[in-house]
Amino acid sequence: MRSFVDIPAGSDFPLENLPYGVFIPAGSHRPRPGTAIGDWVVDLGALEEAGLLPTQVFGGPTLNAFMAAGRPVWTRVRGHLQTLLAADNTSLRDDESLRSRAFHHRSHVRLVLPVDIGDYTDFYSSREHATNVGSMFRDPDNALLPNWLHLPVGYHGRASSVVVSGTEVRRPMGQTQNGDAPPTFGPSRLLDFELELGFFTGPGNALGEPIPVEQAADHIFGFVLVNDWSARDIQKWEYVPLGPFLAKNFATSISPWIVTMDALEPFRCAGPVQDPEPLPYLRSQGPQAFDIHLEVGIQPEGAGEDDVVCRSNFRYMYWNVCQQLAHHTVTGCNVRPGDLMASGTISGPDKGSYGSMLELTWRGQHPLRLSDGSERKFLADGDTVVMRGRAEKDGLRIGFGEVSGRILPAR
Ligand code: CA
Repeated sequence: MRSFVDIPAGSDFPLENLPYGVFIPAGSHRPRPGTAIGDWVVDLGALEEAGLLPTQVFGGPTLNAFMAAGRPVWTRVRGHLQTLLAADNTSLRDDESLRSRAFHHRSHVRLVLPVDIGDYTDFYSSREHATNVGSMFRDPDNALLPNWLHLPVGYHGRASSVVVSGTEVRRPMGQTQNGDAPPTFGPSRLLDFELELGFFTGPGNALGEPIPVEQAADHIFGFVLVNDWSARDIQKWEYVPLGPFLAKNFATSISPWIVTMDALEPFRCAGPVQDPEPLPYLRSQGPQAFDIHLEVGIQPEGAGEDDVVCRSNFRYMYWNVCQQLAHHTVTGCNVRPGDLMASGTISGPDKGSYGSMLELTWRGQHPLRLSDGSERKFLADGDTVVMRGRAEKDGLRIGFGEVSGRILPAR
């Protein structure tokens, strides 16, 4: 597939990707939906106004209306965009006035949160991660709790503190407790990242009407990288009996571009074998995993670049996204356009693929050494954590860009 837009080699955003986001051009205050191609951002509202798209969904400051429109519309718009941006199509290519209105170089835009997120759920679907955490905090011989292989464990998170890549994250204050001593209050000392991938839902279901697993894909709009920042010391003291609370609610960072399920189709693959076989409502058919390389880098304050500390892959997830959505709604719980569902930490089988500092340093027992000579058991103030994702096959590269966040000292 060729476009009239010049796409640099190795770009995350070829014509086959066309992720969706929301941007504000330099000198403007109005957020507007766009798509990314090469180093350019294309204003979808401008194309819609010019009559080049068959929709009326890109006039607002978020993608929620487009997410509500459903898969047939998503697929049609994607087809229109690929045609409009193709090398031999003149309607946009040769309309200089429209091109100057619709095209913005990425260095001249600010990317903002693309969605008004109503609800945020975080799963716990990597068997390797759950096993590592269970080994550390409970029993290495019995690391998985009895429910884990029967249902995708998750919790309802906090939507208000989901932030876009680039937003600084303040080290949280909180209550912690050690040994037999009474609890104390202060800055979290065990601040961590969690490498995750999340999906946005749309159009969603009515209250009382579950989404069957075989229809779940029609409600999955696309994926973003997620850093589920976690304060391990706060988590350890508070999590029994109701699970994560303040240890997770101070910030969750997402990448600005939402990569669609259509763009990821070539990278669909089989996930891990599920044994025991899930209950009927969780039985998905065909390959439901995606081969997406993921990595995490840590850039200390003042360092020129980040040190990659983790390389993992989304295909390791034990529970797939269709199973997650079917399980989430099986009670009749309604999901709405723009809800965010994150995978849980994506750890692989070997040490270099663990998706959190907790696992990489094994609770701080084996600190990581960075290229500036410093050591990390957990994250330090001034550190920037960068996560990147890409799917690659036969010369095709579908990238996610990145999600980054710098840690500010507690106050
Ligand atoms: Ca998490």
